[in-house]
Amino acid sequence: MSQSCPFCRIVSGELKADIVYEDETCLAFRDIAPQAPSHVLIIPKDHVPSASHVEDHVLWVSLMVAVREVVRRISPDSGYRLVVNCGEDAGQTVPHLHVHLLSGRPLGWPPG
Ligand code: AMP
Ligand code: ZN
Repeated sequence: MSQSCPFCRIVSGELKADIVYEDETCLAFRDIAPQAPSHVLIIPKDHVPSASHVEDHVLWVSLMVAVREVVRRISPDSGYRLVVNCGEDAGQTVPHLHVHLLSGRPLGWPPG
Protein backbone atom coordinates (compact mmCIF):
# COMPACT_ATOMS: atom_id res chain seq x y z
CA MET A 1 0.00 0.00 0.00
CA SER A 2 1.19 3.50 -0.85
CA GLN A 3 -0.10 6.10 1.63
CA SER A 4 0.04 8.82 -1.02
CA CYS A 5 -1.91 6.81 -3.59
CA PRO A 6 -5.63 7.64 -3.79
CA PHE A 7 -6.55 4.19 -5.11
CA CYS A 8 -4.70 2.45 -2.26
CA ARG A 9 -6.67 4.67 0.10
CA ILE A 10 -9.91 3.54 -1.58
CA VAL A 11 -8.84 -0.10 -1.17
CA SER A 12 -8.14 0.47 2.54
CA GLY A 13 -11.49 2.21 2.99
CA GLU A 14 -9.86 5.47 4.01
CA LEU A 15 -11.28 7.22 0.94
CA LYS A 16 -14.92 6.72 -0.08
CA ALA A 17 -15.82 5.43 -3.52
CA ASP A 18 -18.91 4.17 -5.32
CA ILE A 19 -17.86 0.53 -5.43
CA VAL A 20 -19.55 -1.64 -8.05
CA TYR A 21 -17.57 -4.88 -7.68
CA GLU A 22 -15.04 -6.45 -5.36
CA ASP A 23 -13.24 -9.76 -5.14
CA GLU A 24 -10.10 -11.03 -3.43
CA THR A 25 -7.71 -9.35 -5.86
CA CYS A 26 -9.58 -6.50 -7.54
CA LEU A 27 -11.88 -3.60 -6.86
CA ALA A 28 -14.10 -1.65 -9.26
CA PHE A 29 -15.63 1.75 -8.57
CA ARG A 30 -17.18 4.64 -10.47
CA ASP A 31 -14.83 7.32 -11.75
CA ILE A 32 -15.16 10.59 -9.86
CA ALA A 33 -15.04 12.58 -13.13
CA PRO A 34 -16.89 10.36 -15.63
CA GLN A 35 -15.98 10.71 -19.30
CA ALA A 36 -19.03 8.73 -20.45
CA PRO A 37 -22.50 8.01 -19.00
CA SER A 38 -20.95 4.96 -17.36
CA HIS A 39 -17.28 5.14 -16.35
CA VAL A 40 -15.89 2.49 -14.02
CA LEU A 41 -12.29 1.91 -12.94
CA ILE A 42 -11.09 -1.63 -12.28
CA ILE A 43 -7.93 -1.89 -10.19
CA PRO A 44 -5.77 -4.50 -8.50
CA LYS A 45 -5.95 -4.16 -4.71
CA ASP A 46 -2.17 -4.29 -4.54
CA HIS A 47 -0.29 -1.16 -5.52
CA VAL A 48 1.15 -1.70 -9.02
CA PRO A 49 2.18 1.58 -10.69
CA SER A 50 1.49 0.63 -14.29
CA ALA A 51 1.17 -2.19 -16.84
CA SER A 52 4.90 -2.78 -17.20
CA HIS A 53 5.23 -3.22 -13.42
CA VAL A 54 3.01 -6.31 -13.31
CA GLU A 55 5.30 -9.11 -12.07
CA ASP A 56 2.75 -11.92 -11.83
CA HIS A 57 0.94 -12.28 -15.16
CA VAL A 58 -1.99 -13.95 -13.38
CA LEU A 59 -2.94 -10.46 -12.23
CA TRP A 60 -4.08 -9.71 -15.79
CA VAL A 61 -6.44 -12.67 -15.66
CA SER A 62 -7.85 -11.41 -12.36
CA LEU A 63 -8.33 -7.93 -13.80
CA MET A 64 -10.11 -9.27 -16.89
CA VAL A 65 -12.35 -11.49 -14.77
CA ALA A 66 -13.26 -8.40 -12.75
CA VAL A 67 -13.92 -6.50 -16.00
CA ARG A 68 -16.22 -9.31 -17.15
CA GLU A 69 -18.16 -9.19 -13.87
CA VAL A 70 -18.58 -5.42 -14.03
CA VAL A 71 -19.71 -5.62 -17.67
CA ARG A 72 -22.29 -8.23 -16.64
CA ARG A 73 -23.52 -5.95 -13.87
CA ILE A 74 -23.84 -2.77 -15.92
CA SER A 75 -24.76 -4.62 -19.15
CA PRO A 76 -23.92 -1.87 -21.65
CA ASP A 77 -26.42 -2.02 -24.54
CA SER A 78 -24.24 -1.23 -27.48
CA GLY A 79 -20.62 -1.76 -26.59
CA TYR A 80 -17.96 -0.46 -24.30
CA ARG A 81 -14.27 0.44 -24.31
CA LEU A 82 -11.41 -0.66 -22.06
CA VAL A 83 -8.53 1.80 -21.69
CA VAL A 84 -5.29 1.53 -19.72
CA ASN A 85 -3.35 4.80 -19.68
CA CYS A 86 0.33 4.22 -18.95
CA GLY A 87 2.69 7.09 -18.26
CA GLU A 88 2.75 10.77 -19.01
CA ASP A 89 2.10 10.76 -22.78
CA ALA A 90 -0.96 8.55 -22.26
CA GLY A 91 -2.29 10.94 -19.62
CA GLN A 92 -1.95 8.64 -16.62
CA THR A 93 -2.68 10.78 -13.57
CA VAL A 94 -2.99 8.11 -10.86
CA PRO A 95 0.09 5.87 -10.61
CA HIS A 96 -1.86 2.76 -9.63
CA LEU A 97 -2.74 0.43 -12.51
CA HIS A 98 -6.38 0.80 -13.55
CA VAL A 99 -8.61 -0.24 -16.43
CA HIS A 100 -11.17 2.33 -17.54
CA LEU A 101 -14.47 0.79 -18.62
CA LEU A 102 -16.41 3.37 -20.62
CA SER A 103 -19.89 2.95 -22.05
CA GLY A 104 -23.19 4.65 -22.74
CA ARG A 105 -22.24 6.77 -25.74
CA PRO A 106 -20.48 6.32 -29.08
CA LEU A 107 -16.74 6.43 -28.39
CA GLY A 108 -14.63 8.14 -31.05
CA TRP A 109 -11.67 6.51 -32.75
CA PRO A 110 -8.76 7.17 -32.81
CA PRO A 111 -8.63 8.31 -29.17
CA GLY A 112 -7.01 11.69 -28.50
P1 AMP B 1 -5.79 8.15 -15.58
O1 AMP B 1 -5.83 9.55 -16.11
O2 AMP B 1 -5.84 7.10 -16.66
O3 AMP B 1 -4.65 7.94 -14.61
O4 AMP B 1 -7.14 7.96 -14.79
C1 AMP B 1 -7.31 8.29 -13.44
C2 AMP B 1 -8.78 8.39 -13.22
O5 AMP B 1 -9.02 8.32 -11.84
C3 AMP B 1 -9.40 9.69 -13.71
O6 AMP B 1 -10.41 9.38 -14.65
C4 AMP B 1 -9.95 10.33 -12.45
O7 AMP B 1 -11.17 11.00 -12.65
C5 AMP B 1 -10.12 9.12 -11.54
N1 AMP B 1 -10.05 9.39 -10.11
C6 AMP B 1 -9.08 10.08 -9.45
N2 AMP B 1 -9.33 10.08 -8.13
C7 AMP B 1 -10.46 9.36 -7.95
C8 AMP B 1 -11.25 8.99 -6.82
N3 AMP B 1 -10.91 9.38 -5.57
N4 AMP B 1 -12.37 8.26 -7.02
C9 AMP B 1 -12.72 7.87 -8.25
N5 AMP B 1 -12.03 8.17 -9.38
C10 AMP B 1 -10.92 8.92 -9.22
ZN1 ZN C 1 -1.92 2.51 -5.04
